[in-house]
Amino acid sequence: MEEKNAGITSVIRQKALELGFTAVGFTKVRLPDEYIRKYEEWLNRNYHGSMDYLVRHLPLKKNPELVLENALSVICVSLLYRTEDCLTDDPHHGYFSIYARGRDYHKVVKKKLTQLIGEIHKITGDCHERAFVDSGPVFEKYYAAEAGIGAIGRNSLVISSGYGSFFFLGELITSLPIDTDSVQNFDPCRGCARCLEHCPVNAILDNRQINAGRCIAYLTIEHKGIIPYELTVLMGNRVYGCDSCQKCCPWNRKIKITAEPDFSCRLTDDIVRLDNLIKFKPEDFSETFAGTPVHRIGYESFIRNVVIAAGNSGDLKFIPVLQQMLAANPGEVISQHLIWSINNLTAGNCR
Ligand code: SF4
Repeated sequence: MEEKNAGITSVIRQKALELGFTAVGFTKVRLPDEYIRKYEEWLNRNYHGSMDYLVRHLPLKKNPELVLENALSVICVSLLYRTEDCLTDDPHHGYFSIYARGRDYHKVVKKKLTQLIGEIHKITGDCHERAFVDSGPVFEKYYAAEAGIGAIGRNSLVISSGYGSFFFLGELITSLPIDTDSVQNFDPCRGCARCLEHCPVNAILDNRQINAGRCIAYLTIEHKGIIPYELTVLMGNRVYGCDSCQKCCPWNRKIKITAEPDFSCRLTDDIVRLDNLIKFKPEDFSETFAGTPVHRIGYESFIRNVVIAAGNSGDLKFIPVLQQMLAANPGEVISQHLIWSINNLTAGNCR
């Protein structure tokens, strides 16, 4: 049986790499009590902000049997997403996280995982799988580390000693009894605290936890409604995501470029100029961002983030534009941010 499973493992690995995944690893669904205890402590401290689905997912995360009957193993994959730099680093342009500039990764990774399931069933039909890409009820970073994909860094991301952290994770929970890969037994952060120092909002804590409720990626993407003023003034020109804790990380010094054509950049410097984005109507938003991760946040969060970025730009030409938007009664959330941004610009505050 063991020999048979070793054969299955190597075929799955080979197929995953042929599908374009950067790496693949295998582990058991077992979860140590200590890991769960720390996660619950993190939730109890409300570091998850308004991501209530993380609380709802907890029973499933703790018990993979509820996710898939007879769950035994996890097949973890990574997929690099970094492309050549396609946008200038201009503070008068909206910043869009590197991962969000191409096709929505949920679709890309899920499609490959579905193909991988098909390949697994050709080898052994007697198994069941469920595929997850981000935000599912799975401890994806824990499993990725256990499967040898990388080690979890101070910034809470999985870091590979070979290709840094600009990659997506995906998982197949399976009923197959697969042999486990060895853990990458290294501390990527020994003697380093660069991400902690570079985080604009102090979201990275001394104890290697993240206060996600302060994180700019969370604020611009997950958080709906009004963003507290003291955080908006620290957000700079970020419209979608942040990347600060990855760009400063020494493991990302040598840039590894993705071979995945779906992740090639769909944005241009002209599109992301703040004076262009601020004019976007819902139909412009959909036309420009449909099929990318940005589209998932919806128009209201998008225009809220653009208004904040305009307010942080220090560019007085935005004042009449923002005043005109305010006069059109855009609703409570946008109106509040318009007022703050107009006040910011009038007072000469910018970051
Ligand atoms: S910047 Fe330094 S401390 Fe932060 S994740 Fe990278 S190696 Fe770890």
